Amino acid sequence: MFGRIALIGIGLIGSSLSHAIRRGGLAAEISVSTRSQETLDRAAELKLGDHYSTNAAKAVEGADLIILSVPLGAMGAVAQSIKGSLKPGAIVTDAGSSKASVIADISPHIPEDVHLVPGHPIAGTEYSGPDAGFATLFDNRWCVLTPQAYTDKNAIEKVTKFWTACGSNIEIMDPLHHDKVLAITSHLPQLIAYCIVDTATDLESHLQSEVIKFSASGFRDFTRLAASDPVMWRDVCLKNRDAVLDVLSQFTEDLTALRRSIRRGEGEELQKIFTRTRAIRRDVIDANQD
Ligand code: NAP
Repeated sequence: MFGRIALIGIGLIGSSLSHAIRRGGLAAEISVSTRSQETLDRAAELKLGDHYSTNAAKAVEGADLIILSVPLGAMGAVAQSIKGSLKPGAIVTDAGSSKASVIADISPHIPEDVHLVPGHPIAGTEYSGPDAGFATLFDNRWCVLTPQAYTDKNAIEKVTKFWTACGSNIEIMDPLHHDKVLAITSHLPQLIAYCIVDTATDLESHLQSEVIKFSASGFRDFTRLAASDPVMWRDVCLKNRDAVLDVLSQFTEDLTALRRSIRRGEGEELQKIFTRTRAIRRDVIDANQD
């Protein structure tokens, strides 16, 4: 599908991409770049690429497809560092969890003869780093692409075929719409998990040990989410600020209403809400996104 693919950032997403590219035979060669020598050495031990460098500009030389899988806060600086080395006709894409910010941060650095097709695989785990990746991460998951109206159609088609070959289903979306949807489906649940686990750590020490001991009763699921990479989620909050603030306001209102129903003993209202949410769970399972 491609001669050379450059993976810039080789954590959970970059290393999973390497495995998926190898599985599908999607590139003749993979060039890997990461910020630290330590991560680069580990990527080499895991044979995630054919060429390795801590210099992103060197890694993108001759690449037909460049995939940026670094934290959102690093996208702009990375794009700036590679702009002079991109091959004419190359395609740059990314895996960033918010899209309007990535477009604002990257596009000023994309030369006229290079195509930018932003993307977001809606797939992940709470683990990070090059050891965390696996070939099936993107299987049967959505990958949202947010090209601009003027983006080259051929480039969009190539990126679509690439993610499809990695196992994903493709949805094309407006970047701001993507950011609103993801604020609800991903960013809000993550913040709630961080908040619940943090509240529990505030409790007195004897109670804390009981929180861990009896964690199977709901808390455990939140600790899995709350174990996610702090830098990645810091950047999501800062880079998708407006959409996250909107959805947090709505959530706070709904939580206050729920609290009022409990205080007033409105059993019927509580049961109505809990019945509605139970149906949503069935929809998620039916959509194969469990
Ligand atoms: P990760 O496992 O933490 O890996 C991050 C990679 O970026 C590493 O290679 C790291 O290099 C590099 N990096 C970190 N800070 C950097 C900086 N300031 N400048 C340049 N490089 C830097 O992260 P990930 O989970 O793969 O996430 C990568 C991207 O995918 C993020 O934009 C995230 O929003 C998006 N995403 C994540 C998930 C998820 O569930 N994790 C899902 C979908 C999309 P060193 O190790 O060498 O420092």
